[in-house]
Amino acid sequence: MEQTLGPERAAVIDPAAIRHNVRTIASYVHPAKVMAAVKAEGYGHGAVTAAHAALEGGADWLGTAHVSEALALRAAGIQAPILAWLHTRATSFADAIAEHIDLGVSGWEIHPVAEAAESLQRPARVHLKIDTGLGRNGCTIEDWPELLRTAAEYQERGLISIEGIFTHLAVADEPDRRETDEQLDLYRRALEVAQEHRIVPDLRHVANTPAALSRPDAHFDMVRVGVGVYGQSPFADRTTEDLGLRPAMELRTTVANVKRVPAGQGVSYGLTHRLDQPTALALVPMGYADGIPRVAVHAPVWIRGRRYQSVGRVAMDQFVVDLAELDTEVSVGDEVVIFGGDSGIEAAEWGAAAGTNNYEIITRIGERVPRLVV
Ligand code: PLP
Repeated sequence: MEQTLGPERAAVIDPAAIRHNVRTIASYVHPAKVMAAVKAEGYGHGAVTAAHAALEGGADWLGTAHVSEALALRAAGIQAPILAWLHTRATSFADAIAEHIDLGVSGWEIHPVAEAAESLQRPARVHLKIDTGLGRNGCTIEDWPELLRTAAEYQERGLISIEGIFTHLAVADEPDRRETDEQLDLYRRALEVAQEHRIVPDLRHVANTPAALSRPDAHFDMVRVGVGVYGQSPFADRTTEDLGLRPAMELRTTVANVKRVPAGQGVSYGLTHRLDQPTALALVPMGYADGIPRVAVHAPVWIRGRRYQSVGRVAMDQFVVDLAELDTEVSVGDEVVIFGGDSGIEAAEWGAAAGTNNYEIITRIGERVPRLVV
């Protein structure tokens, strides 16, 4: 029977890999619970696909940045506990409370959250966030007693229920840096101050993927893991395989053109790359509109079981690969793997080629690229 062609360009998503990764992380951190971060469309994998797979792999909780992301999971029928931690004045706390979505609270949100709870006659479940050094969201240690006092008061009035206290780490991906110890010290101090206010929540949570994998002293009651769930290493010096994880996304397409070109030929906009010998070039039909960084150069691709490198600037829809010989076997229609799958190419390698990391590479794969769930 004639084989049907697959989609011309696809991010192939492997839920079995997500299940495996969650199981692996859960076994590292046992008995701590696992919250799988499925924000940003499940780091580009599809939030609902990622959520189902993570829960099947043993995740206890799901995490999102925005309430809107959490609501979309509820609308898809997902009943598991969800925490959403990044809010604006426009955030619908009432919808979150009505849908049993836990809310991260760093400061000002405590009042609109309590008001929404009052109007719904149902307590809001909150996790208080302390900034222990990341300098992003979270309450400063100076303002912490005031937030605790307010939270305790609302809790007494039955408007909120304090379920957790959490913080987020800044440099856990660099295990030698002392700032993680400082953050953990400050977090423990914040827990003591909370206890003085008779706030002792069930869920203390700190660790992201790198801390889950390298700092047992950061596990507490739950870890909040994202990148590892998707089979990406957060460490510069350790691959996905080193960590016993499996990449859950393979980005692939097929060769759109092959041609021979003479030495001296410039490649792509700006002619930033000139070929120093005659060669064959393959055209790959993915570009920065698909999330391939425009600045990536000499990034790897996998064609017919071999690695080749991109040359010249990535354009909106396409980029060029140097096949490094004139008499190439590569032809139009051959499969090109940009990362993942059997290629052994890590999204982190594209990150390195573009001056960024694997998080950004996987998360920015564009909507124009169909997700093919296998
Ligand atoms: N917790 C919070 C608050 C986050 O913002 C993130 C992601 O950035 C995570 C946990 C998951 O981090 P990682 O993907 O490094 O595991």
